[in-house]
Amino acid sequence: MKKHNFSAGPCILPQSVFKEASQAVLDFNNSGLSILEISHRSKDFVAVMDEAQALVIDLLKLEGKGYKALFLQGGASTQFLMTAYNLLENKAAYLNTGTWSSKAIKEAKMFGSVEEVASSADKNFNYIPKNYSIPADADYFHCTSNNTIFGTQIKEFPTTTTPLVCDMSSDIFSRELDFSKFDIIYAGAQKNMGPAGTTLVVIKEDILGKVSRQIPSMLDYKTHISKDSMFNTPPVFAVYTSMLTLRWLKEKGGIAGIQKLNEEKAALLYAEIDRNPLFEGFAAVEDRSIMNATFNLKDEKLKDLFEDLVKAAGINGINGHRSVGGYRASMYNALPKESVQTLITVMKELETQA
Ligand code: PMP
Repeated sequence: MKKHNFSAGPCILPQSVFKEASQAVLDFNNSGLSILEISHRSKDFVAVMDEAQALVIDLLKLEGKGYKALFLQGGASTQFLMTAYNLLENKAAYLNTGTWSSKAIKEAKMFGSVEEVASSADKNFNYIPKNYSIPADADYFHCTSNNTIFGTQIKEFPTTTTPLVCDMSSDIFSRELDFSKFDIIYAGAQKNMGPAGTTLVVIKEDILGKVSRQIPSMLDYKTHISKDSMFNTPPVFAVYTSMLTLRWLKEKGGIAGIQKLNEEKAALLYAEIDRNPLFEGFAAVEDRSIMNATFNLKDEKLKDLFEDLVKAAGINGINGHRSVGGYRASMYNALPKESVQTLITVMKELETQA
């Protein structure tokens, strides 16, 4: 039986993508060759890379605006240092909204001075700080759009003339934003885009070339831009599967189409968390993420019963991250509404049995 998969990432992808990707492992484009055994410089793979990059720019509505989409390796974690390596000359401003922001700050400190403009560490990151100001002399401002672990999400980004860098690992392609406000957007593929193994970096080319330090080739965005993401062997399978997922998203009506579904799924689950007297939400209501819903049982004694019901319903991956505890239901783009309904049924069943 196919599970209802609420994993935080790697996570569920569209079933049609799983099928198509597995077919390509056996025979890619009726070539008599597997996607895993062809050259990344072959015509067929170059077409995959081109299509994947074009779909990113198209879906984010960045056509003709000076952006380049790169498929790199090393995870979003490498972007923590690469962004600073390429952009930080004197000072950078960071918003600290959780574990991943903190890690980004730690890396950036190796390259210059870092001003933490605000932090929600005082309440275990259960909210998004507001009303902070960004110093005028900052080379860039960095934020994390969606905090995967804590279940909070930035709803409004600051209006500033300072270049904006955003880690969108866990909500890229899930909601419409004016993506042209950002100078660098990065995201590990393994939530809304594809399997683990590639990292999407969307970069406004004119942001580069302003630091005086030398940058090693592999860590220099310019290298990857000039070689169209083919400076070294790209992660072919991860890029191919991402391309299939982006095609699927386009067919679903793009980001606007999926946002509607994502909002419906999140509204259903949060309504049950708020209604059901056995549960309480973790994140501040106005900052709740539509991707990762974090919640707790009010009475820990019901843990075993709840988890037995969860298991019996074929639900996978709702245990909260160790730094928050409780539960986290990740409702990425490919998670069907029925899975959310199944979880809600289990929460109601607990109320009946408790
Ligand atoms: N940023 C965010 C918001 C994340 O959720 C994650 C991983 N879950 C990371 C960064 C780190 O990504 P990676 O494992 O690809 O380095």
